[in-house]
This record gives sequence, structure tokens and C-alpha cells, in this order.
Amino acid sequence: MLYRERTVDTPHGPVDTPTLFPVRNVGKRSSDNTPGYTDRIPDLQTALVNTRAIKNNRPQWERLTGDHELRSEMDATAETVVFADSGGFDFEESDPDVSAVEIVEAQETIGADFLGTVDLPLSRENRRAENQRRIDESTRLALEASDAHDGDGHLIASVHGYDPETIENGIEYLEANGKFDGYAVGSLVPIRTDYERVTKLIIAARRATEKHLHVYGLGGITYQPLLLYLGVDSFDSTAFIQSAAQRNYLSPGHGCQPIAEIEGLDRLPCPCPTCKDSTLSEIRADRTLLTRHNLWALVTELRRFRFAVAADRDMEEYLDMRFAGNPVANRAYQTAKQQIRRLT
Ligand SMILES: [Zn+2]
Repeated sequence: MLYRERTVDTPHGPVDTPTLFPVRNVGKRSSDNTPGYTDRIPDLQTALVNTRAIKNNRPQWERLTGDHELRSEMDATAETVVFADSGGFDFEESDPDVSAVEIVEAQETIGADFLGTVDLPLSRENRRAENQRRIDESTRLALEASDAHDGDGHLIASVHGYDPETIENGIEYLEANGKFDGYAVGSLVPIRTDYERVTKLIIAARRATEKHLHVYGLGGITYQPLLLYLGVDSFDSTAFIQSAAQRNYLSPGHGCQPIAEIEGLDRLPCPCPTCKDSTLSEIRADRTLLTRHNLWALVTELRRFRFAVAADRDMEEYLDMRFAGNPVANRAYQTAKQQIRRLT
């Protein structure tokens, strides 16, 4: 397998990878707020924020350019390592309304540790020519960010493509022409149910660079073990918020379960602090409790994987077991296994 563990030094302290960046909706006027967690989950001192949303929220932006710190605005500890993406997924229909330089400056202002470059996401509906234009434009914007960036944060170039060659060429071109600390594969959300294709794209990215590799938007409970197996260093997730909004209870190995359909129990099987202290009916009635539990479920998945590696378990056997209940993901995993065996 391509799984790897590293420690990355950032302006706000070291972060052990592979790691998850939970999405924080700071800046967005949204009811889907992320409850604070960095003081509760010791190995999750990470967060992903949307730079454009923060910049566009005028009152907040004035506070942040004044004497207010982003991390206290987010109710997060001062050591929280922040990945600030550009907010590119808001440009699915249009072209960006901010320049690459403005975004880098905003990311530096808020003290981002990882800076994601401005990108134009692809769509599975878009014609080939339109997607190619978007790929070229994202590449140009990444190189502009590379020229503008002079801080201590890690600059992560966004790469897009729906075939392995495009991903590989994209990374090689950016590596030759810019200065980046890592790469992030975007545009995978529209094709996420096509596990085999997604897996091939990620393997292509992993082969093209030794540097930090992030995958945007796929840090849900099913994808996580697959991303770890493929050697991804970090990923972000809204799955814990979205599942709670849809009243779904996440559980490693069991995926997503509508909480309304669980009957005849007082207590849920998860030992996380939320489930330990609350009854099923309390969690059912309180979205914040459900969101907290769902985040614990994602962290537990990550801890289990790390544990299996540390205990020197046969990881392919472990993953055979993990994917046994999900035929679609399992097929992608089996294909990936064959590909990786040829590589190593
Ligand atoms: Zn729980």
C-alpha cells in the first residue's frame, strides 16, 4: 500500500499526517454551523476554511484585519492548523470574482498554514473543451499564486482532470514552473460514486509527486480508508455536518444510518464522549450532538487505521474486511490493490 505517515511543520505547530481537516463554515451565513471540537478531540487540531467566504463576510473581515484572530473567531485553540482553500467550488457556473493574488493575501492575513490556490472545478456535465479551459485556467492561477506567495504557510496547488494523464501532466507542469509545497486534487465530488475512476486519479497524483498530497471533498466515512491506503496525506470533510443535517448517524464499518430508524435502544454503541453521556433520544433531538458524534466517527475511522498499521496488521486483510459490506467501494479497492502491487 502507499500509506505513509509524516510530520509537517506549520506556522501554528507540527501536524501529524495523514490527517483530516473538518470543514468550518466560518464566514458563510449558514445554519450548518460546525460546533467547536479542537478542545475535545486532542488529535484533531485542524480545520479547513473557505477564504473567499471569509473575505466576503464584511463585518467578519473587518474584525480579522483588525485585532481579531481567526482561531478565536472559530472557537478553536490557538494551535489549530488551518487549511484555507480558495472557495473554488463556488465557481462551478462562473469564473472567479477574485484574483489569485487577492486570495493569497487573504490567506496570509488570516494566518493560514496551508494555502489552496484558486481553481475552477470541473463538472461531469461539461464538454471536454470547457473542462480543458478550466484546467488551463486553474494552472495559470496556481502559478500566479506561486509568484505572490512569500509567507511561511505551505502553498498547495489545485490540480484537476478526469483522466490519470491530465493529473500527472498537471502536477509535473506546476512542479517545473512554480514553487509549491504540495498538491491537491479537486473536482472529485461530482464523480465520487465512480470509485474506480477516482482511485485511478489519486494513484496518478500520488505517483507524480513525493510532496504533500491533499484530496478535496472526499473525507467521508467510506472514502477515508481508501484515501489512506492510496497514500493521501490529508483530506477534508463536510460529511459529519451534512449527515447530521440529514439526520444520519455515522458509524465506522456501517456507514450512514438514518437515526430515526434506530428503535428499541436507549444507548448507541459508540463510546465517544457524546454517545457516552447522551441517550439515543437526546442525540436524535439535538443536531449539535449528532454532528459531534459524526465527527468522532470520522476520527475513530482514522485512529483505527493508524492502530492497525502500528500493530503491524496485514493491512490488505484489514481493508478486505472493512470494505466487505460495500460492493462498489470494494471493487475500487480491489482494482487499486492490483495497480499498487504493480507499482511497489
Ligand atoms: Zn458517538
